[in-house]
Amino acid sequence: MHELSYMIKMVNLAEDTAIENDIEHIDKIVVEVGAMTGVLPYYLHKYYPEATKGTRLEGSELEVIEIPVKAICNNCQTEYEPTKENDYRCPHCTSTSSHIVAGRDVTLKNILVNE
Ligand SMILES: [Zn+2]
Repeated sequence: MHELSYMIKMVNLAEDTAIENDIEHIDKIVVEVGAMTGVLPYYLHKYYPEATKGTRLEGSELEVIEIPVKAICNNCQTEYEPTKENDYRCPHCTSTSSHIVAGRDVTLKNILVNE
């Protein structure tokens, strides 16, 4: 139910934006899903009709964009994608000390409205 709680959060966010901006109906939302969140786009799509029922998003389209994980090495500042293949180490200096800069969030990227 991980996905459903994210979905409800995104729908509430879009709904609030619609109310604030006097938008009667949203036609499409774009959601970015970081690889690190473990959220599966399949389930987002599956829960979408239920999550949008009775809201200004009912009947709208959902687009999910998957964002790969991006880390920056604390030792040499190389930007890389930590994976099992590289043992989550920096490919340049093999340091394991890094900070994640992308791929750990689910965010509402865009709201589309047909006038
Ligand atoms: Zn490095």
